[in-house]
Amino acid sequence: MRDKIVAGNWKMNLTKNEGLLLIEGVVNGVVNSDVKVILAPPFPFISDAVLGLSSSKIKVAAQNCHQEESGAFTGEVSAAMLRSFGAEYCIVGHSERREYLKEDDQLINRKIQRLISHGIIPIFCCGELLEERESDRQFEIVSDQIQSALQGFNKDELKNIIIAYEPVWAIGTGKTATPQQAQEMHAFIREKLSEVLSENAEEVSILYGGSVKPENARELFAQKDIDGGLIGGASLNAPDFLAIIQSF
Ligand code: PEP
Repeated sequence: MRDKIVAGNWKMNLTKNEGLLLIEGVVNGVVNSDVKVILAPPFPFISDAVLGLSSSKIKVAAQNCHQEESGAFTGEVSAAMLRSFGAEYCIVGHSERREYLKEDDQLINRKIQRLISHGIIPIFCCGELLEERESDRQFEIVSDQIQSALQGFNKDELKNIIIAYEPVWAIGTGKTATPQQAQEMHAFIREKLSEVLSENAEEVSILYGGSVKPENARELFAQKDIDGGLIGGASLNAPDFLAIIQSF
């Protein structure tokens, strides 16, 4: 049985009181379901989130980490720090970092290595741009991203990884992939994962991300290979985020 997961990515939003209120709203509203809930706040909130969520089953993810172990990298945060503050997951390869910070799959591969070595589970994001889908290259693009970012790992290292398929044209745009488009890509990703993981690919949770809202979550999550969602905008509002969790 694969884990059903709903992860909220706050991105660079909310100040202290707003963030603490959101954590409280999610903890108080989440019903004891079999959905694994993960919150990914910005770095300054990690400690408070771990503390605030400790009475619940909700877990904390970081939104990024540095690829090196430690050292002279002003402004950066290491996987070891994240682990020591209680983060159990970390998003890597988000399209916003690929676009604005020019992160490529080789760099993402190194970040994944570092995370795994500290026992942090990577939430690896992949997905095509609009022009790539319009020229029918989405499978080739996602296949290349997976191949490069996951190269060199063995079955054991990757068996807990979480994949998030996030078509870039659907992130924060209000456009969502149709359940059929998403299911088709998720099945493709699972097939691709099976080249490394063989039958363990069946156990990997593959999340869909891109303008998931309470209104469209149910139909997306009903697809065979969609095991949950990575939620941006709608995770900043506790009632919407809770309604998405309830969509399973
Ligand atoms: C995201 O940040 O990964 C995301 C999917 O954002 P949104 O839900 O706002 O499209």
